Amino acid sequence: MTVRPPIVGAAVWTAVMNRAGHRCECRGACGKRHSASGSRTQGRCDLENGKHISKKGEVVLIAMPRDPINEGDFATAASLPARRLAAMCPLCYDAVFAKIRKAVKDLPPQDDGLFSVEEFRVDPASKKQADVGAA
Ligand SMILES: [Zn+2]
Ligand SMILES: [Zn+2]
Repeated sequence: MTVRPPIVGAAVWTAVMNRAGHRCECRGACGKRHSASGSRTQGRCDLENGKHISKKGEVVLIAMPRDPINEGDFATAASLPARRLAAMCPLCYDAVFAKIRKAVKDLPPQDDGLFSVEEFRVDPASKKQADVGAA
């Protein structure tokens, strides 16, 4: 099967997927609790590359920035190293960006500090990883 990396180059995408075991690394950043199907998933989404079929076809994981708010635009995301990216299934990916879009929409205009994006924020110098998924 030919898998086209949706955001980043093939080498980086492959590195991210190998590290992730070709399984979605979402641990709830999308808003879903990924523990519903039992302890087997250990709170992590269990969708894997090529092993699931969605309405849009075979599931192909996306290499998504761990800090989608500050690094979510295409040019930035494409330049990130593998360790700054998380493997996400399209469902979690869409849900995370829907949450961000909604949060941005809900921001009061010209008002700082009322909305916290802590759950997505990672200090670039920090070794800590965002909730998007720990390696
Ligand atoms: Zn997922
Ligand atoms: Zn998820």
